[in-house]
Amino acid sequence: MSIRVAIIGAGPSGMAMLRAFQSARQKGAEVPEFVCFEKQSDWGGIWNYTWRTGLDQYGEPVHGSMYRYLWSNGPKECLEFSDYTFEEHFGQPIPSYPPRAVLHDYIMGRVEKAGLRAHVRFNSPVRWVDYSDATGQFTLTVKDNVKDALYSEVFDYVVIASGHFSTPNVPHFPGIEMFPGRVMHAHDFRAADEFIGKDLLVVGSSYSAEDIASQCYKYGAKSITFSYRTRRSNFKWPSCFTEKPLLEKLDGRVAHFIDGTTAEVDAVILCTGYLHHYPFLPDDMRLKSANRMNPPDLYKGVMWEKNHKLFYLGMQDQYYTFNMFDAQAWYVRDIILGRITLPSDETIAADIAGWLAKEGTIETAFDAIDFQTDYMKELIPATDYPMFDLDAVAALFKVWEHDKERDIMGYRDNSYTSIMTGNTAPPHHTKWIEALDDSFEAFINPPAVAAE
Ligand code: FAD
Ligand code: NAP
Ligand code: MG
Repeated sequence: MSIRVAIIGAGPSGMAMLRAFQSARQKGAEVPEFVCFEKQSDWGGIWNYTWRTGLDQYGEPVHGSMYRYLWSNGPKECLEFSDYTFEEHFGQPIPSYPPRAVLHDYIMGRVEKAGLRAHVRFNSPVRWVDYSDATGQFTLTVKDNVKDALYSEVFDYVVIASGHFSTPNVPHFPGIEMFPGRVMHAHDFRAADEFIGKDLLVVGSSYSAEDIASQCYKYGAKSITFSYRTRRSNFKWPSCFTEKPLLEKLDGRVAHFIDGTTAEVDAVILCTGYLHHYPFLPDDMRLKSANRMNPPDLYKGVMWEKNHKLFYLGMQDQYYTFNMFDAQAWYVRDIILGRITLPSDETIAADIAGWLAKEGTIETAFDAIDFQTDYMKELIPATDYPMFDLDAVAALFKVWEHDKERDIMGYRDNSYTSIMTGNTAPPHHTKWIEALDDSFEAFINPPAVAAE
């Protein structure tokens, strides 16, 4: 029987895996049969926006964590595919910080063009994965939500691409159960309109906190109080923003912080991050990790040390995104195709230990950018994924950090040069803070000039 590969999840990482196999096939290689299981009714992962929160129409936990009005928080030039540029997709250069619908269109464009949809089984959550030492094969138990039926199939390799920004990490604060307003985690945040005129408490100090607070301010929230656990942000926030240390308790509408100060708020948004959560995996195959640059037990960040037929994609904390998922998918593909020869178990263990030690030296955001750049430099030359100037990407990430520090509400108005094409992005027709319509059409087409 032919070799079979199961891919769990059709988000950007799973789609990179599909594209990696198709790319090899296109160049004449014989590739295994590959089947992708996706629990949602369409592909795109968290870029496939859903209005739903909680459970979906089949009772599955809703995967989506994206919200209306979400714009890219990093320059598109840092995540561009090296085998499918923005210009190839859009036919012209576009501004550097697109809204969600535009990036979604771009990532879908590549896999639609490659004709990969037929490889995906939609409405198909993977319920369980078993590995047999006797046969050396995996048995996947899958729910077909349309037929309302469970079934099992056997595979030789499994690639887990189920994402790690969907299962909320929800801490408890005393008094939160009696809070008289809205309490939600960032995972359930959808439209900032709900908070017009409100005083908001945002717990957390990372990307979700800064971006959800910025959205709410943009659409008319009255004030934002951040509560940070470890470190305050470096940003120059508008005057209606305040940064407080950790929330101690809530007493009615009054939030008490550990420095003894208080604030009266109408709503609480917990931007407290996400859990790595793989309810379909037994303990001995399950990645147990915090959100970090170097998740443990993975050779080259992708291959499960204890089972070389099991892979994870996209499980790192991310500066690089789409092109890193590509670099990983091409690497995994080439292990499966036998193009990459695995070293001894001792060498694999030493390599994993080396990256762990290197991760331990990260102190600043710039160190983390350099770390992930070094990782990319190790993966890409090992495959035929088109190499690009990674030092230029790292430099652009650092420019981006400075741009945010200079103007947190205006950084998305900057334009950068594509590392792939050398062409500079045009400025967007409207400043981000004034661009209230985040639709594809509004972004691509300049606003109609009012008739005289
Ligand atoms: P996901 O996109 O999460 O996709 C995983 C897929 O697996 C989903 O389709 C899911 O339905 C499916 N799945 C899960 N479990 C199962 C199962 N048991 N069976 C079958 N299918 C399953 N990155 C950027 O580059 N730019 C941004 O602006 C940006 N914004 C972000 C905003 C938010 C709010 C968040 C949370 C993340 C953002 N990211 C951004 C980072 C994001 O992680 C990546 O862009 C990318 O979506 C990761 O792709 P993925 O395929 O690994 O995971
Ligand atoms: P994250 O980066 O993992 O940050 C988690 C935050 O929660 C940290 O500030 C952490 O504080 C805090 N936290 C955790 N437990 C806490 C507790 N018990 N009490 C108080 N604070 C606690 O997660 P994220 O911010 O949700 O970002 C996830 C991903 O989404 C990132 O890849 C990001 O780029 C992406 N994202 C993108 C956009 C966009 O593009 N527009 C918007 C939002 C998110 P400590 O520092 O103390 O640990
Ligand atoms: Mg190469």
